[in-house]
Amino acid sequence: MTDNTLHFKKGFIVSIDGPAGAGKSTVSQQLAEALGGVLLDTGAMYRSVAYFALTSDVNLAKDFGIIARSLDFDYDKETKILKINGENLGARIRSEKVSAMASSVSRFKSVRAALTKRQRSLGKKLSRKFPVVMEGRDIGTVVFPEAQYKFFVTASEEVRAGRRLKQLKKMGIKGESLKSVLKQQAERDHQDSHRKIAPLRCPDGAIVVDTSSMGISQVVHFLCDHIRNVEEMKK
Ligand code: C5P
Repeated sequence: MTDNTLHFKKGFIVSIDGPAGAGKSTVSQQLAEALGGVLLDTGAMYRSVAYFALTSDVNLAKDFGIIARSLDFDYDKETKILKINGENLGARIRSEKVSAMASSVSRFKSVRAALTKRQRSLGKKLSRKFPVVMEGRDIGTVVFPEAQYKFFVTASEEVRAGRRLKQLKKMGIKGESLKSVLKQQAERDHQDSHRKIAPLRCPDGAIVVDTSSMGISQVVHFLCDHIRNVEEMKK
């Protein structure tokens, strides 16, 4: 088998921001693989705070902050998974209930401060050795505004909801329709882009990629080509 992975002498950070359902997760995962690097899914961190808040029936801002500070995040290079308290939380943090709660808890300063700190230290540590693709809402604006490569991945509302529904079905999560996903997506978009701290917006200097009529591999090729061309020019 041929190895299509790109090889780089030094690590770097690629920020991928954008709204829910724009295809960021799959694109980021495939991009990390193509670059021979690692993926840091920062949404999973907000989701895990939401998950533990829901399972322990906690609903006060100060408690969300306590949960965020208590969680242990570690990237497992073998399985390529972000372990939370030593565990892969998998589909448990992917339900629509957790999605909505993640968007709510992410408004709080204590939660954002705790998670931003971890994201910076993990990103810095990993990027000494590998290209690190960091996916989220505020990576290119707040967490790593100095990222070497910045992308803002988006798509139309309908396309995003359709993709999200497909993803939920694939994970075996039932009971959602296009209408319900569209409604929850609009609420989450509004909440994410109107919050006071680190709202979702296109970072300065980011390349905007509208994936509405693009396939995943097309997007990954586009991002990879851009990175490869810039890295080649540096030689
Ligand atoms: O990307 P994902 O849908 O998994 O993110 C879940 C929620 O976590 C988002 O709706 C957003 O509120 C929050 N989030 C954030 N900042 C990030 C990543 C995710 O506020 N960097």
